[in-house]
Amino acid sequence: MRCPFCKKGNMETIQASFKEDNINYEAFRCSVCREEIVDMEQLHQLAKEYKKLRKAKQTGFAKWGNSIAIRIPDEMVKELKIKPGTKAQITREKGILKITPA
Ligand SMILES: [Zn+2]
Repeated sequence: MRCPFCKKGNMETIQASFKEDNINYEAFRCSVCREEIVDMEQLHQLAKEYKKLRKAKQTGFAKWGNSIAIRIPDEMVKELKIKPGTKAQITREKGILKITPA
């Protein structure tokens, strides 16, 4: 795709991010003028990421014996049908803890 701004460069697919919100998204960037654009599909994907962020809840860490525990908000407990004793996988992805109920 030819750049609609400078009309010289080609639009290349890039992985971009809003670091302060920890949001990654795909966009097109001109190889010459470095101008960036997103198409409707990329825009919808970006909107989806922000919708997820809006639904994020504040929580905190607490001491539990020699470990650290994290409180899961009631709304999420109900939604995910988590009970005391439910097993989960915890993984680390670039400074993010991801908890997946089994
Ligand atoms: Zn350009």
